[in-house]
Amino acid sequence: MILDCAIIGGGPAGLTAGLYTTRGGLENVTMFEKGMPGGQIMNSSEIENYPGVTGEITGMDLMMPWPEQCQKFGLKHEMVNIVRVTKSNDIFTIHKEDGTTVQAHSVIIGTGSSPRRVGFSGEDEFFGKGVSTCATCDGFFYKGKEVAVIGGGDTALEEALYLAKICSKVYLVHRRDTFRAAPNTVARIKRTENIELVLNSSPDEVYGDAMGVTGLRVKNNDGETRDITVPGVFTFVGNDVNNQTLIQEDGSFLCDMNKAGEVIVDISMRTSVDGLFATGDMRIAAPKQVVSAAGDGAVAALQAISYVDEKLN
Ligand SMILES: Cc1cc2nc3c(=O)[nH]c(=O)nc-3n(C[C@H](O)[C@H](O)[C@H](O)COP(=O)(O)OP(=O)(O)OC[C@H]3O[C@@H](n4cnc5c(N)ncnc54)[C@H](O)[C@@H]3O)c2cc1C
Repeated sequence: MILDCAIIGGGPAGLTAGLYTTRGGLENVTMFEKGMPGGQIMNSSEIENYPGVTGEITGMDLMMPWPEQCQKFGLKHEMVNIVRVTKSNDIFTIHKEDGTTVQAHSVIIGTGSSPRRVGFSGEDEFFGKGVSTCATCDGFFYKGKEVAVIGGGDTALEEALYLAKICSKVYLVHRRDTFRAAPNTVARIKRTENIELVLNSSPDEVYGDAMGVTGLRVKNNDGETRDITVPGVFTFVGNDVNNQTLIQEDGSFLCDMNKAGEVIVDISMRTSVDGLFATGDMRIAAPKQVVSAAGDGAVAALQAISYVDEKLN
């Protein structure tokens, strides 16, 4: 049997694609997820910005009903790591880790991305308890308070500017004295009064107590340390896109990607390969939010339905 649609990844993007494809009439749809469905938001202790969801709710609480809702409309789910997706003679082949394969007329991929860790002491221990990689997600928790931002690229600087609008002060910690960001962004940083530049310095340790982070120790290039009293530390040192399944045997990618390894899509989530749609955090210009990943899943599903209808009828 050839699936109408194979969905790779069971985060907000993949689950929404599963809901829309099955409810929209595709008969044979399977979602391949290597872990528990729900995606990376399952690690979040609190989510406040999913529309319509008020009150204190964890990422896991938010995501728990999603798989059940999809299954009601016929989505099948297989817990398996997908190692590769290939295409030949207009049919996709999904290669599973155990060596078996499944074929599909269309593929919606939403395998997400993972923010890189800096590697300082306490970073993992306090991740989600004061250490964050997402200003849009967690900035509001520090409204009117001081925070530190680690990084010197475009993302770090743009997130520092975003945080400066919410927080009373932002310490921007960067290991060099020049930034890798766009000159215009650097100029905006320099004229923002509540951003203090802490240059030629790297984070040494983040520390705190049972309630969370209380401070950050940085070390400058001369080995001198400084303690910055902040309850929040935001790190932006790059992002690893989970694009491994698109790598072909010869090392090329199945579809067009940008230099950062993100999948290039149009506004309908179409990639450069007919019948292959990319969604959520792994696509270019992704806002990296649950609501936008879910939106991508819906858009891709509607496109996949039209694609399969046209192909088979
Ligand atoms: C701590 C934390 C807090 C956050 N807070 C917020 C917040 O407050 N608000 C907000 O909107 N967003 C928040 N985010 C961001 C949000 O979680 C992501 O933007 C969103 O989950 C992206 O959805 P996705 O479906 O694209 O990818 P993901 O959620 O990353 O899901 C991808 C899925 O694909 C699976 N997968 C990967 N590779 C394979 C493979 N080879 N085979 C099979 N399965 C595979 C993974 O196991 C995963 O389940 C937070 C993220 C984190 C980590």
